[in-house]
Amino acid sequence: MSMRFSHKLLLSVVVFMSLSIGIILYLAITHEKSLISSIQRDNLRLVNRIIFDELYTSMRYGGGRKENRAIVKRLNNIEGIDEVRLIHGEPVDRQFGTEEDEIPRDELERLAIQGKEIMEEFSENGARKIRFIMPVFVKKECQRCHRAEVGEVNGAIALVMSLDKYDAMVDEAIKKFVVTSLVMMGLVVLVAVAFILHYNVRPIAELYKAARIIGSGNLDYRIDIKDGVEINRLVEEFNNMAQRLKERTEELMKLNRKLEALSITDGLTGLYNHRYFYRRLAEEIERAKRYDRKLSLIMADIDNFKLYNDNQGHQKGDMVLKGVAECIKNRLRMNDVPARYGGEEFAIILPETGKATAAKVAERIRCEVERRDFPDEKTQPEGSITVSLGVATFPDDGITIDEFVRRADDALYRAKRKGRNRVEVA
Ligand code: GH3
Ligand code: MG
Ligand code: MG
Repeated sequence: MSMRFSHKLLLSVVVFMSLSIGIILYLAITHEKSLISSIQRDNLRLVNRIIFDELYTSMRYGGGRKENRAIVKRLNNIEGIDEVRLIHGEPVDRQFGTEEDEIPRDELERLAIQGKEIMEEFSENGARKIRFIMPVFVKKECQRCHRAEVGEVNGAIALVMSLDKYDAMVDEAIKKFVVTSLVMMGLVVLVAVAFILHYNVRPIAELYKAARIIGSGNLDYRIDIKDGVEINRLVEEFNNMAQRLKERTEELMKLNRKLEALSITDGLTGLYNHRYFYRRLAEEIERAKRYDRKLSLIMADIDNFKLYNDNQGHQKGDMVLKGVAECIKNRLRMNDVPARYGGEEFAIILPETGKATAAKVAERIRCEVERRDFPDEKTQPEGSITVSLGVATFPDDGITIDEFVRRADDALYRAKRKGRNRVEVA
């Protein structure tokens, strides 16, 4: 079963507190009851001693069996005494005869009149009672009336007292104790829960929340809790980790941007490459279709470039490629997309541009290239580096990419055929 951490803590607190209170209660009850028994045993001894003294005093002043029975009867009426009984021993029976109610009733009373002191705790109708039977030994004084040897057992006094009243008091005290304990436990549990929630659960919940927020992409989120050494360390480590994650992610994003830029850029000219050109052209055609806009494409090719390379070498040829690329960039607007199509060929996408405007842009590029000074361009047939350009417009000159590009290419080759260094429109 999966359970909330806070509920688990709460349950543990309640279970452990209940257990402790249960154990304390059990020990308290057991201890109280044995204490009461022990006090009551002392009481019984004392009361029995007093009874004996009363009987003894009566007998010393000539009291006989009749007086003794009257004393015992009176004692039986005292509240708190359950029963007082005289048990006759053999010398008394011998001398004065047997009385039915003074014959030993059970084994313990028989043991008592043999001289054994008996202390017994028993239960009657669910109430705890204690019986104490004290043997009475013949003394020298007794021999004035009794015909018995000194040390013989004349009889015994049996006394029964109830523990009920005290047990009821203990039960009442325990009831109070239980109620007080429960109230106290409730309070302690409340305080403990508040404490645990604040100091233990809140930081964990905060960490969980922060992990979720950071996981969802907000790398700036940090935790601000100071609750004890371990939590502080955990929070600090967590925040450090989040910071490192943020820095690493930023680095990776920067690197990614660089890589992406590299992957779409032509290394020599800094224009977009062939792959990006086709991706953008597809996108722009889609956009033009959707918004019913025009879109133009210029294809440009350096004239007699093989000758220049052959005469001046490829390194100078590369410088010419860079120069022509600059001329193209200079003549474009923000939204235009200039690309190196391959070799000494360039392709320029002109979004939202009709044929006439595109032709003007192409013408401006042609002029800029013609005007620009390239090293040792005098060796070229025109005495200068020049470009030929072809212009096509979507959707007038084709509605598929291939058709569109081919129409711009056709225009370019027408410009070549017509003598180069010119713009031809599809
Ligand atoms: P045309 O006027 O008909 O276009 O003639 P052209 O000589 O320019 O055309 P051709 O296709 O015969 O030759 C293209 C030359 O472009 C061949 C190659 O030497 C050169 N070239 C292609 N790519 C590069 C490059 O990256 N650097 C250099 N330096 N030259 C290149
Ligand atoms: Mg070419
Ligand atoms: Mg060429």
